[in-house]
Amino acid sequence: MFCPYCRDEVQTNAVIKAKQIFANTPADQLAFLTLLLPVTYLPERDAKELIDDRRSKNRDMFNYHNFTDVKLFGTFEIDVKTGKMP
Ligand SMILES: [Zn+2]
Repeated sequence: MFCPYCRDEVQTNAVIKAKQIFANTPADQLAFLTLLLPVTYLPERDAKELIDDRRSKNRDMFNYHNFTDVKLFGTFEIDVKTGKMP
């Protein structure tokens, strides 16, 4: 969980890392991908389990379509809404 300031820092670092990873990739071979998942309310599951599950499904999807030359890098962002305010 990040406050808005820490989120900005995490995102900035992710952009820096992505630029390093894809520094030698031509721009016409780059694409920005956003995966939107259904709204989920699973209080018994923590975010790590949710992210690990999504990672596994992404890997399976790429393997299924035989996308062997695809490199995926990104961050997970989960918005949380609650009726309980601190
Ligand atoms: Zn913070």
